Amino acid sequence: MSFAAQTKKELTSISDKPCCERAELTALVQHCGRINTDIEPVALELATEHAAIARRMYRLLKAETGYNLEVLVQRKMRLKKNNVYIIRLRNNVFTILEQLYIARDSTDISSCIPHDILKSTCCKKAYLRGAFLASGSLNDPDSHSYHLEIYCKSVVNADELLRVFTSFHLHAKKTQRKKGFIVYLKEGDKIVEFLGLVGAHQALLHFEEVRIVKEMRNQVNRLVNCETANLNKTILAAVRQLDNIRLIEKVLGFEQLPIKLRVVAEKRLQYPDITLQELCEVLPDKVSKSGLNHRLRKLDSIAQKIRADRGIFEES
Ligand SMILES: [Zn+2]
Repeated sequence: MSFAAQTKKELTSISDKPCCERAELTALVQHCGRINTDIEPVALELATEHAAIARRMYRLLKAETGYNLEVLVQRKMRLKKNNVYIIRLRNNVFTILEQLYIARDSTDISSCIPHDILKSTCCKKAYLRGAFLASGSLNDPDSHSYHLEIYCKSVVNADELLRVFTSFHLHAKKTQRKKGFIVYLKEGDKIVEFLGLVGAHQALLHFEEVRIVKEMRNQVNRLVNCETANLNKTILAAVRQLDNIRLIEKVLGFEQLPIKLRVVAEKRLQYPDITLQELCEVLPDKVSKSGLNHRLRKLDSIAQKIRADRGIFEES
């Protein structure tokens, strides 16, 4: 089961205060409901591909209305061949919509988020839960980018949903899709906060766990890369020092070198693999690392001069 499906499954098992269950139902109606006018009397139909969400819609709508509901299962022909579950209400549809704060004369039931919901913090959270259940999606925290989105049929609903996000300091963004709009979050810590707000605590813990492990792994990788780079630099420097010293030995002979440079050249040849620090320690005279570097630079310039004089170009 995908992380999104797991999160939704967890959300469908939450029980909440009556005001909040009604707000969640409003979101479910606005995000996956439609008025079917092809049948008489007109019906309110809520459609979902998730059996657990269908069961929840059934429970919430039944509790709100007290009416008998029809449950239909359709096999989707195109695209993914998942079942579509439809919960159908045929009694007093417009009265029920009004009860859910959705205006009875509204031609588009999916536009404005009702004011009664917007003014209550607990109900706003429940509305977010309903909207996410109905038309939300969420990347697995292990995938390469964090992403949570809620699809909205109307721009009004998307704008209002954005305001609900903002009221919880979740700075979501909105973008247009072929049909409708999406409101989305990209930052891991904002997604974690969202999961907490809507009550998906198991999902939140899992998300955090994966995120922490992932970030630690990235940090370790960065450190390893950095160390590898340093090591490469050290090795390249040592190779160059040895080249210089061998060239000087061949062309000038060590006896031509000042004694301070001569001991460095001899010890470097004797211990080609040790670090500069270790090289300092094997030199007979006490020399600091910067002093040693200074001498190595002198050897380097002598070697450069030899190369220039002989017209030998360094191979790199
Ligand atoms: Zn409430």
